[in-house]
Amino acid sequence: MPELKDQTYWLEKARTLPLEGRAFIDGAYVDAQSGATFTSYSPIDGAPLAAVAQCASADIDLAVAAARRSFEAGVWSAISAQARKAVLLKWAQLLETHTRELALLESLDSGKPIADTTGGDLPGTIYCLRWFAELIDKVHGEVPAIDPQFFGTVTHQPLGVVAAVVPWNYPLLMAAWKFAPALAAGNSVVLKPSEKTPLSALRIAALGLQAGLPAGVFSVVCGDGQAGRALSLHTDVDCIAFTGSGKVGREIAKNAASSNLKRVWLELGGKSANIVMADCPDIPQAARSAAAAIFANMGQVCSAGSRLLVQRSIADTLITELLQAAEHYQPGHPLDPASVTGAIIDSVQLDQVCRYIEIGEHEAQLLTGGRTLTLAGTGAYLQPTIFLAHDANARIANEEIFGPVLTVIVFDTLDEAIAIANQTEYGLAAAIWSSDISTVHNATRRLKAGTVWVNCYDELVDMNFPFGGFKASGNGRDNSAHALSKYTELKSTIQRCR
Ligand code: NAP
Ligand code: MG
Repeated sequence: MPELKDQTYWLEKARTLPLEGRAFIDGAYVDAQSGATFTSYSPIDGAPLAAVAQCASADIDLAVAAARRSFEAGVWSAISAQARKAVLLKWAQLLETHTRELALLESLDSGKPIADTTGGDLPGTIYCLRWFAELIDKVHGEVPAIDPQFFGTVTHQPLGVVAAVVPWNYPLLMAAWKFAPALAAGNSVVLKPSEKTPLSALRIAALGLQAGLPAGVFSVVCGDGQAGRALSLHTDVDCIAFTGSGKVGREIAKNAASSNLKRVWLELGGKSANIVMADCPDIPQAARSAAAAIFANMGQVCSAGSRLLVQRSIADTLITELLQAAEHYQPGHPLDPASVTGAIIDSVQLDQVCRYIEIGEHEAQLLTGGRTLTLAGTGAYLQPTIFLAHDANARIANEEIFGPVLTVIVFDTLDEAIAIANQTEYGLAAAIWSSDISTVHNATRRLKAGTVWVNCYDELVDMNFPFGGFKASGNGRDNSAHALSKYTELKSTIQRCR
């Protein structure tokens, strides 16, 4: 991690930072065919950052055609595994060399604290790219034991053209979780970042070319939901990998079915339950962890611990500790390296979160926060907010808010806690805090969630673990070797030998 400079350094660097807003198609930066642009704003203060190419169907067609051409030419899909690995490792190295510039770009475009982008988003993106690069030449097929008159293999082959449509909360990291395994498997990729945060994806495309990615293998198209929609309907896209809202995910699945039945991988929302039993080994630690689980990244995290379930006998103690821990997450200027949280992505998202705060004021007890703050220009900042629910069926206890709003629910028995944890449509993550091994095993087995933490929350960033959801939180998994196989087809080859 680079040395964290002071706010003056970052503000000065921001003034001279080059911003590329053109799409990256077939190895070059290009304007949209129509010449149309939209403005990318900084959530920090609402200032315009760059005019960005507004890609429409014609531009998507070009990017997909370039991806198809490069795929069929074999310039990436049919080179040796070691050659692909070398290019992705070089790309990761270039991202590392440019960490400060990319972290600043990410903070400016998304309002995330510079400490997070330098210490989390960029290292996480680089780690992901390196991890999948390293995996490329360690993939094996199968040779089943069969009738000796035959010889057969089961092999993985790349799918072809993979479209990746990603959100604004971790722009580069969510993109890398898709493009790293897809490229590692030998596919050509068309990436569509969110219109709210397109700049970092555009910048890394040039670094990919510099690292040796052939033209057409990695393109970045910008634009609003229509650009993503065109990708989901495109008949020459073989697979669409999406992270975002359930509403859009469902639409993508329908579009895929009604076009060419492209493979669809969805990572959607969550309303994750963090359960603290009375025999929790360390209540102050559980409180600090519960605060981090919901307030980090301003609560704009799909796996945020947005519901804190606490057993009645320790509820008062835990809540007292929690209120203290929440103070650490008061927002600050995102370019101040001391800031732990920054801006909400935009006023639309702020309004959505504030509507839930209003609902919460009617159906629950506000324990702290709930107010917006003015820190810079028209930037949207919000206090860390905690409600105590009177009823586990309250809307704020079941619907995804995607902001710094925690709902505390008191329960009596483990069975009751598990029933509450499993009652939402989601199933992304959960946690259980207990000193009793039987309680832990009982809970981890019954919680319907893709990730379950025990006596911690959202810890251990390790690519070996698949990430994704049960139920309406999506299908398939990002990260781990399981993610690589999402971007391949299995082929059975059977040969008669005599
Ligand atoms: P979103 O509105 O669903 O947008 C996600 C992406 O889809 C953006 O690039 C968006 O483009 C694009 N899009 C919009 N309409 C589309 C359409 N009709 N067809 C195809 N693509 C379309 O979600 P968001 O507001 O960016 O992100 C917040 C949501 O993502 C939350 O619900 C959160 O839980 C979820 N999330 C999940 C995970 C996970 O791993 N499970 C991770 C992060 C976020 P534009 O922005 O340009 O409109
Ligand atoms: Mg922006």
